[in-house]
Amino acid sequence: MEDTVFNKILRKEIPSFCVYEDDKVYAFLDITQATKGHTLVIPKKQVTNIFEYDAQTAADLFSRIPKISRAMEKAFPDMEGLNIVNNNRELAYQSVFYSHVHLIPRYSKKDGFK
Ligand code: ADP
Repeated sequence: MEDTVFNKILRKEIPSFCVYEDDKVYAFLDITQATKGHTLVIPKKQVTNIFEYDAQTAADLFSRIPKISRAMEKAFPDMEGLNIVNNNRELAYQSVFYSHVHLIPRYSKKDGFK
């Protein structure tokens, strides 16, 4: 499997801002904040894309998402909604080939975020 920027983040060779971590997943701020608090969640077991998950790794990853979403809501009380995005393969706009889920908070326009 490819040694991606997210492998380097997990090995702490490059910095990241940790949002949540346990033995199965790591969540950190996206370097390009689509909106305030835009977070990426990755399984610690490397998977390239959705087509490669075994059931346990998928369960480990996706079962954490409600908890992380609630923590984000607490951290950003002005958050009014949340998009969950997962791009798979180049044609579907995947640019880092280590599977990740985007958690993108949504704010009302009065806060200056789309
Ligand atoms: P896209 O680039 O179309 O969003 P992906 O779904 O593969 O494709 O998303 C990769 C994400 O990884 C991007 O949102 C990008 O900003 C983010 N990213 C790339 N390098 C880093 C990094 N060093 N730290 C945090 N996020 C990163």
